[in-house]
Amino acid sequence: MKDLLGLALLLSVCAVAWAKTGRTYYTEERVTTARENVARYAWARATQHRILETGDAIRYYIGPVYTSADTFAAQSDEFIWLLQPTTEIDRTYDIGEHPNALCPVHGAEVKRFGPFNPWKIDPIGNPYQIQCPVGGEWYPSNRYDRGDLTSGEFPDDGKGCLYGGQRWHFLVEYAHMVYGSVVVPTLSSLSQAYLLTGDARYARKGCILLARLATQYPNYGWEGTSYPELEDRTARAYLKGGYHPHYTWKNGGMISDLIWECFLLERIAYAYDGLYEGFDDPEVLAFVRGKGLPVQTGSELREYIENYILRAGMVGLQRGMIHGNEGHHQACALALALVADDCGDRHPNSTDMVEYAYHGIGGAAYMLTNGLLRDGGGHESPGYNTIKLDFIRVAERMEELREAHPDHFSAERYPDLFAEPKVKELFGQYIDLLMLDRFLPPIGDTSNLSKPERMRDSWRRYSFIGPENLFAFGKYGDPRFARAATTYGGELPAGELWEPYPEDALRAALDDPASQIKRDSRLLDAYGVAILEGGEWPRNRALALNYSSTIGHRQSDQLAIWLYARGLELLPDLGYPRTWEYRGTFDSANLAHNTVTVNERDFTYPRFFRNGCRLFASAGGVHAVTAYHSPYIEGTKLGRDAELPCNLYERTVALVEVDADRFYVVDLFAVNGGERHDQSWHALYVPPQAPDLAWQAQPTGTLAG
Ligand SMILES: [Zn+2]
Repeated sequence: MKDLLGLALLLSVCAVAWAKTGRTYYTEERVTTARENVARYAWARATQHRILETGDAIRYYIGPVYTSADTFAAQSDEFIWLLQPTTEIDRTYDIGEHPNALCPVHGAEVKRFGPFNPWKIDPIGNPYQIQCPVGGEWYPSNRYDRGDLTSGEFPDDGKGCLYGGQRWHFLVEYAHMVYGSVVVPTLSSLSQAYLLTGDARYARKGCILLARLATQYPNYGWEGTSYPELEDRTARAYLKGGYHPHYTWKNGGMISDLIWECFLLERIAYAYDGLYEGFDDPEVLAFVRGKGLPVQTGSELREYIENYILRAGMVGLQRGMIHGNEGHHQACALALALVADDCGDRHPNSTDMVEYAYHGIGGAAYMLTNGLLRDGGGHESPGYNTIKLDFIRVAERMEELREAHPDHFSAERYPDLFAEPKVKELFGQYIDLLMLDRFLPPIGDTSNLSKPERMRDSWRRYSFIGPENLFAFGKYGDPRFARAATTYGGELPAGELWEPYPEDALRAALDDPASQIKRDSRLLDAYGVAILEGGEWPRNRALALNYSSTIGHRQSDQLAIWLYARGLELLPDLGYPRTWEYRGTFDSANLAHNTVTVNERDFTYPRFFRNGCRLFASAGGVHAVTAYHSPYIEGTKLGRDAELPCNLYERTVALVEVDADRFYVVDLFAVNGGERHDQSWHALYVPPQAPDLAWQAQPTGTLAG
């Protein structure tokens, strides 16, 4: 009852209708700032060059932010319209049943180029085709975009190609990849190019592409919203409202899956804001009317896009159909809220999105307070914890909404997420975790094993993260963050194109001795990692002992150690999984880590208890740590019923520096329980050179399976 009353009050406050009347993210102030940055700073000119001319290389999803605005603005309207495929074509399939990431000619050879997705695409040179990285041949053999559904040996009409008794989903792969890797980056480029230059050519193509996207963007129906008359497109969603046939926990998604859609939709929302005036262009209106869109005016076209993209996204978020790692969906919701700028009495609207992000599924109001440890570590691996930096955008958009509508969004209900003191350490830990000015401890799903290459001077850096240090510096004023943002050579960092650049404050902070970052032995005891480090570059050395107990993206790497010296990872780790298919038995397994296995048993999943550090000391070039863990918790069956439990699992490591050049490590692992203890070591990623012994193949497999 109380909740209903609260809701009624909230609704009555909202009774005043307001709708978007202009750009709310790319304000005139932001556009002026960007143009001034370009006039003044080389880094801003480099960003503009990237937006207008070079774009980013087309890669699978994570990475490309821009395509070349000039290149895409030079394409025909018809090409731009077809750049986004119809969502009648699926974007995923049962990878257990159909060949996944395999070539019909070269088979699994393509996996060398990428086990998740090896394909290349070139939508301008070879639209609606994917290229095999081994032979360079293109699939399918027909030209779907020209209406040809049958030509050649490998035709695909959108439902896959039957070849060799199997169905190959070339166009599904293309439709998924082109959306995230080309369509969304092109929307970002064209919108930003227009704002930077005022050239209507960019806006025209961007508006046509966005209108096309609005005709194809899925939704989950409009029940319970103020828009029951809109078209239900559940059948065109990523999983059509059901669950994934292979990754069976997964539901939702729009054009892409529920996680990646968060940051794609966020970028689409900003692009819409940037292109706002462009929809009044008579050429744009004539073209989209020719494609069957029932719009006469720019306002009607904007309303169509707001409904079928922004509002469809709001419903998707509210129903959990768009949902990523913590930070992803909240940032998406706040972008939708600011860009839609709608706090009228129809729902869902901007107020609903802010509520969703702060007190609904998003839980942002308490996320950083409760989701971070006192040293800034999170509930996930260090790599994944960087996603919490997306809360920067949540906080910034919140302040902008509050400024635009001061009576509507109170600071009590929607507090400053970064005011909590320990949130500062979210930034600090990415300085503290870095060893030899380069390496992040590969705790859980973090970092990638690569062929050993001695690091160069130019690879050194102060922090694992980059431009976010500028936010931290602005927020907390700590000169260490100013230093962390710079290069080792002392160069000032690139700024954010659309934000004022704090050059004078940065220079003043760098003159402050408190800005120095020095790497001594250190303990991040809340997160559970000890770092022993000493020596001077390039002879510095470091060792990490992992006693963390994370919840998400954890691997069986408890009490693993990693060693770094001479610019190399000497005891590395597989790191981020090569695929999700064999993660449990391969990438994540205890035997793949530098730790101890009892009775050939996997570590207990999914929770660990009792972990901590008993000793930590560093003096006179001797650095020591003792930490314990409980990877076989009480009740774990180790074998025979009478087997002794494993209740001692403790590692003591000392890094002893002999002189500037030499050091050694003492490693004592104390384990009880069971009857067999295997210590595994993971060496450098090079072909092993086996000594000349009487080696025999083991037909039943090795200790690791
Ligand atoms: Zn091939």
